[in-house]
Amino acid sequence: MEKVFKIIDEERDYYIKSLIKLVREPSIVGNSYGISQTVKILTKMLEDLGAYVTTERVGNSNPYIIAKLGSGEKKILFYSHYDVQPIQPIDEWECGPFSGTTKENLIFSRGVADSKGTIYSRIAAIDAILKSGRELPCEIIFILDGEEEIGSPTIGEFSRKFEDLLNVDLCIWEAGFVDYKDRPVLSFGMKGLLYLELRCKLLPHDLHSSWATIVENPAWKLIHALSSMRDRSGNINIEGIKEYIKPLPDVEDWKKNLSDFDLSFYREKLKIKEFLPIKEKISENHFLNPTFNICGIHSGYTKNMVKTILPHSAWANMDFRLVPNLTPDILLEKIKEHFKKKGFEDLEINVKTKIESFFSPPDEKLITSLKKSSLRVFDREPLFIPMLTGSGPMYSLCSKYNPKVVSHGIAYYNSHVHAPNENIRISDLLNGIKFIVDVILNCEDFI
Ligand SMILES: [Zn+2]
Repeated sequence: MEKVFKIIDEERDYYIKSLIKLVREPSIVGNSYGISQTVKILTKMLEDLGAYVTTERVGNSNPYIIAKLGSGEKKILFYSHYDVQPIQPIDEWECGPFSGTTKENLIFSRGVADSKGTIYSRIAAIDAILKSGRELPCEIIFILDGEEEIGSPTIGEFSRKFEDLLNVDLCIWEAGFVDYKDRPVLSFGMKGLLYLELRCKLLPHDLHSSWATIVENPAWKLIHALSSMRDRSGNINIEGIKEYIKPLPDVEDWKKNLSDFDLSFYREKLKIKEFLPIKEKISENHFLNPTFNICGIHSGYTKNMVKTILPHSAWANMDFRLVPNLTPDILLEKIKEHFKKKGFEDLEINVKTKIESFFSPPDEKLITSLKKSSLRVFDREPLFIPMLTGSGPMYSLCSKYNPKVVSHGIAYYNSHVHAPNENIRISDLLNGIKFIVDVILNCEDFI
């Protein structure tokens, strides 16, 4: 192992340069600019490892990159995505969003944390193993998605079409970060997602605001509908939801780790002014409960001048992060029933995205081995959390064959993921490469 770690340190500049080349290609989802060049760079990187690489589209999706290398009875799947979020608001970037600027221990670029740096940590890990003269102990498969940031709309079909790729022993997912105590955060599932647009249209056109004495205002109606779903403390007021929120199987470390979640750190680092007044079990709420989040509301006149109108319509976008058992379809039904009961049945509900949640309970062997890898590389134990609080297509890839799953990424707590000035720390990149090396070379201990 030490020999491979030494190679990673020696190849440091080469790995940084290669990652910068990758992040300098824009591959913003929904915009074809830079996509084919990104696919080309990744294909070349994987082929240079000796992988057999193909690209596949489902309908008119961006290409999925599939790579296979190594041999052996056991198989590891690396899932990640090469598409990135849009760069707006552009004037808040301190350097070009695709410049790959380095500043001391940091690399800035859209996609460097989410998730090109993580893809590259897998590639560099395999490169270092091979350069050390060792063979891969198992077969390795890469599936690189080009549309994860819009909810991987074709991944269900892709999974059915390429089902054989998914029959693996371990799936290493793409997301994770190093926390403020320099521990890698490792998880075993992802929350699901239901994204809804709620529309309230009551008039063919705006009216003079004097009509507000007797005419229902769609903005008010929408606000009442929204506030009927959740109280000021964050409790969900929709009947029949609680029975779907079940405690997850106990893993000794979780209780300790979840109680270790330090709010004051996030209050300061992320400049959060106010937390919900949930006094107890705040971390359990964060990791194990669904969210009812308003992403945006729009209605009527919102400019600087004075215009007295009664708007004809109002709409809101909402996302709901879902826990295992609470599927997007169940929640949608419950919301429709709730609106009917409360007199909001005329609200138009448009479903934008549905993603199932997924959770793979880790066994003792996996936990023990991950702890050992973390101690060797980070010199401390990892922070295990049950599930990532974000969503991704884990269910589509992992529900059929139920491999062991662990999610790991090379971002850190201040990576500005999805925001201006996205960045990673070079030290996390190098440690992330070493961690993946350690997991690959010790995979026979747990798969
Ligand atoms: Zn993302």
